[in-house]
Amino acid sequence: MSKAGLHAGETAVEGISADDLRTFVDDFAGEVVLPDDDGYHEARQVWNGMINKYPAIVARPTGPADVVRAVELARDQGLPLAVRGGGHNVAGSAVCDGGIVVDLADVNDVRVDPDARTARVGGGATIGDVDRETQLFGLAVPLGVVSQTGIAGLTLNGGVGHVRRAHGLACDSLVSADVVTADGEVVVASEDRNPDLLWALRGGGGNFGVVTSFEYRLHDVGPEVYGLLCFYHGDRSIEALERFREWAVDAPDEASVLPIYMFVPELEEYPEEAWGEPAFLFAGCYNGAIEEAESVFEPLREVAEPIVDFSGPMPYAALQRLFDLEFPDGRRYYWKSTYVEELTDDLVELFARRGAEAPSSLSTVDLWHLGGAIAEVDPEETAFWHRNKPYMLNVEANWDDPLEDEANVSWVRETLAEARELPGIDGGYGNFPGLREDPVRAVFGDNLERLADVKATYDPENLFSNNQNVEPSR
Ligand SMILES: Cc1cc2nc3c(=O)[nH]c(=O)nc-3n(C[C@H](O)[C@H](O)[C@H](O)COP(=O)(O)OP(=O)(O)OC[C@H]3O[C@@H](n4cnc5c(N)ncnc54)[C@H](O)[C@@H]3O)c2cc1C
Repeated sequence: MSKAGLHAGETAVEGISADDLRTFVDDFAGEVVLPDDDGYHEARQVWNGMINKYPAIVARPTGPADVVRAVELARDQGLPLAVRGGGHNVAGSAVCDGGIVVDLADVNDVRVDPDARTARVGGGATIGDVDRETQLFGLAVPLGVVSQTGIAGLTLNGGVGHVRRAHGLACDSLVSADVVTADGEVVVASEDRNPDLLWALRGGGGNFGVVTSFEYRLHDVGPEVYGLLCFYHGDRSIEALERFREWAVDAPDEASVLPIYMFVPELEEYPEEAWGEPAFLFAGCYNGAIEEAESVFEPLREVAEPIVDFSGPMPYAALQRLFDLEFPDGRRYYWKSTYVEELTDDLVELFARRGAEAPSSLSTVDLWHLGGAIAEVDPEETAFWHRNKPYMLNVEANWDDPLEDEANVSWVRETLAEARELPGIDGGYGNFPGLREDPVRAVFGDNLERLADVKATYDPENLFSNNQNVEPSR
């Protein structure tokens, strides 16, 4: 609360002249939500219930012309600006206090060209929106593993999903983008037009403008794939991870596996006697012949007697939705990541020990197997720097009680800090950034200077700063 008990959004709106506000609202084709409006408190919520920001205006464009107006208003009024794709970034960077939120929820069209094997996707679409249309043709963009997630933030910061080792990061399939820049220009970023901007959008985050449309290259995926979902008792974690380490040495690129330390959900699909028990899960996908998948995954499915093993052929679109229920809107979340050069005995031990110590049984420790197509791209070829790390460790605290905030956040931070003391573990992933407290060098590595140059061209005043912020070079 600021003066006279007003919140930051109300104070900022008071600072805009009535004429300027009216002109903006009248000229905006989409919905404009102000602090006095009924839908305001809903409109300012993002997926993470930890985030509680009070913007001045939530503007929901119908297309680029509205986006231009919102960007110009923020710039002319000297107000902060936030861009919302799906609102799923754990740091809550889709909203801001006392500023303008450009919420792209209504710009979510997906159009597939099966002959060209490309898809045009609106900047507010979700993974589910894209899978739904592309899977009609047995095609897919390699996005993430939970279907409600926004494609925009995910792609701009990299994007790892179930077919990552076969088809790379989401940003690797980005062919072109329509972008509204800080000066209100609508530009195309492609190999032929503004290639520096395309380079930066492929992993450089939301620093360069509002992307209203993403054009992706499509890949053959499914429609049936082999889903790996084998749950062991938590006390078999070390054994399972050691088996995974051997298996990973010559794992085919068609296989993308994600070992997870977790607790058995209290859901009827799981044996009731195991509910709440520590567990180790091999989650993954084989995007190739189903018969091959059986033998490729066999070593991972024979570590011990499983609690339950749901592995088998399934529609890719169903696999993409399997984890949806685990991440409801409004729960409290704090997720943070780092990259791993080698799966040492120390890290295996840390994974199992810290997993068991999680203060909330909704939390997990995840080890993403990277490599494959991700590592085939040179670190300088796109803005996404961490190409040569075979694993990413992500520590996910998920809980409901605000009184437990400190315990959960500390568990993640301490786990990450301990991991980063081990050799060959460093850096961070822009899509799992905690509350963005780490230096941005951790995300962008040696690409930071080139990103700062591109930033100076497209956003010299740093209007787009509510993100993993790259300051413009001078
Ligand atoms: C349940 C869940 C599952 C996830 N699973 C995965 C996964 O499997 N793989 C993975 O890689 N990540 C995953 N993530 C992380 C996810 O990639 C990030 O949270 C990502 O930022 C979400 O994108 P969004 O558009 O919803 O972000 P938002 O919160 O809407 O935006 C985040 C930031 O992205 C930028 N941005 C958003 N939209 C635009 C736009 N149109 N133009 C310009 N900038 C924009 C802005 O800087 C904004 O601040 C998951 C997240 C959640 C919540």
